[in-house]
Amino acid sequence: MLQHDILVVGGGLAGMRAAVEAAELGLDVGMLSKIHPVRSHSGAAQGGINAALGNREDDTTEAHAFDTVKGSDYIGDQDAIELFADEAPQAIIWLEHMGCIFSRMDDGRIAQRPFGGASFPRTCYCADVTGLVILHTLWEQCQRLNVKVYEEWFATALSVQNGVGSGVVALNVTNGSIEAIRAKATIFATGGAGRSYYKTTNGLSSTGDGMSMAYRAGIPLLDMEFVQFHPTTLKSNGVLMTEGARGEGAYLINALGERFMFKYAPTKGELASRDVVSRAEQTEINEGRGVDGCVFLDLRHLGKQKIMERLPQIRELALDATGIDAIDEPVPITPGMHYWMGGIQTDKHGATPVPGVYAAGECACVSVHGANRLGGNSLLETIVFGKLAARHAADYAARMSAPDFNVRQLESERSRIGAMLANKGGERVNVVRDEMGKAMMEGAGIYRLPASIQVGIDRIRELKQRYKQISLDDKGPVFNTDLTGLLELGFLLDVAETTLAGALRREESRGAHTRLDFPERDDEKWMKHTQARFRPDADPELGDKQVTVTKWQPQARVY
Ligand SMILES: Cc1cc2nc3c(=O)[nH]c(=O)nc-3n(C[C@H](O)[C@H](O)[C@H](O)COP(=O)(O)OP(=O)(O)OC[C@H]3O[C@@H](n4cnc5c(N)ncnc54)[C@H](O)[C@@H]3O)c2cc1C
Repeated sequence: MLQHDILVVGGGLAGMRAAVEAAELGLDVGMLSKIHPVRSHSGAAQGGINAALGNREDDTTEAHAFDTVKGSDYIGDQDAIELFADEAPQAIIWLEHMGCIFSRMDDGRIAQRPFGGASFPRTCYCADVTGLVILHTLWEQCQRLNVKVYEEWFATALSVQNGVGSGVVALNVTNGSIEAIRAKATIFATGGAGRSYYKTTNGLSSTGDGMSMAYRAGIPLLDMEFVQFHPTTLKSNGVLMTEGARGEGAYLINALGERFMFKYAPTKGELASRDVVSRAEQTEINEGRGVDGCVFLDLRHLGKQKIMERLPQIRELALDATGIDAIDEPVPITPGMHYWMGGIQTDKHGATPVPGVYAAGECACVSVHGANRLGGNSLLETIVFGKLAARHAADYAARMSAPDFNVRQLESERSRIGAMLANKGGERVNVVRDEMGKAMMEGAGIYRLPASIQVGIDRIRELKQRYKQISLDDKGPVFNTDLTGLLELGFLLDVAETTLAGALRREESRGAHTRLDFPERDDEKWMKHTQARFRPDADPELGDKQVTVTKWQPQARVY
């Protein structure tokens, strides 16, 4: 049986940061990724990563922590947020020492741009390709440290034996074999689940695998109802136009040419938090001041030189997709599904309630983002909690002998996947996936109503039944993307179900969760996390988890 001290499932920023840390601590590390690590979705991150370096103005880690608490609409755990903000400057310096080429100010210090919801210019960046640059930096470090990489291996189930995590079952996509990989500690870093929506900024690999595997193994998912809609995405293909554009001074305008954001956020305008800006845009569109379901991102006044120097990628993306050159014309944009605030429940060290199982990055809910994530805080989360999860996993692994692996689980995964290949039910992956995506757009969009959430829940229940009848065309063992697509769809349906269930239960409006029938935040009743637990062949069991408050009591949230 394949075996490691630490097994990291995921080769994006959180996974690679965890693998590097564990390898530097001298442990035997395996890292599993269903796609080549540098193709991980982190590579799409554009605008930057937050840290209170104070290079442009007198910023502090306390201000970063408070902005994050306020951004979270007071439901982020404040002990984790303080740790997160305190660790940030060192995380940037570490990345720089590892070779990350950050953009610079004229005096040579790392440049920082303003981002939504931040009191100071705090976002460090590499032009508008920050994720890709950091991803390559970490990949080099994985090579240097000889991390054993299982490239194009697809984890299908988490193994928990005698109440302790003991590794995963995984499909080797290159030859179709299904193997057990035993580990003293397993760290999930499998990214987000944007593909449960019909339209999203997320890549094809963001399918909630780790969230669902942990959930099925008995680990609760937290705050799944909080889904971020990014204010500036292209209508045609959902591609993101970074918040860095507004950070550099771009305007949002409506069909009448008005800069409308100051009506909704009198101080911050375009740089209010994402939930506020997305709702404002949707209101403009709903009230008839949009064009074809869009408002506009206007960069013209920034001038060609600044656009080409700081925002070259988004200019090209808009040009390719719409034929519009942002140097000369405003770009039509719409709010689009972007990020999962909820995920696998962990403490501030990345530990889940099951010993030996950890999670970091977008698949985890630590919770630092609460009901709304601030731009630039997600990349930071991958680096800070990737490192911390690895440290705690390493400490745990050093005290443990190799756990038993439940061989029956390996056999049951082999027969489950064998049955999927043999199924002649006649349903199609793409049909079920598209219907799920539409149910999520309608049930769990920016504005939510109980009737449409309930329609979504009923639809997902029905789709879960139809899922069992899906047949595949490709029955072969080598690079069977028909099969991996089906496995991913199963994971996504779990994510969709827990999200809609949480959205129906939370009778208030907080951060990205806006219930039109309960338009106010209700701290008395709902200042708590939603916990979803798996029940075989039944709806998720929903419960509460207390929010940790250290020094900031909830206040009215105005930008
Ligand atoms: C377009 C875009 C722009 C963004 N820009 C920014 C930004 O500027 N700043 C910011 O802070 N945030 C940004 N974000 C958010 C941020 O990029 C992500 O939240 C973050 O990169 C997620 O990193 P991760 O390591 O958790 O996951 P990912 O990078 O998605 O990596 C997941 C890894 O898990 C692997 N995996 C998944 N399932 C399995 C499985 N079953 N078996 C094996 N391997 C598996 C994948 O192969 C991959 O290697 C942006 C997001 C998008 C979509």
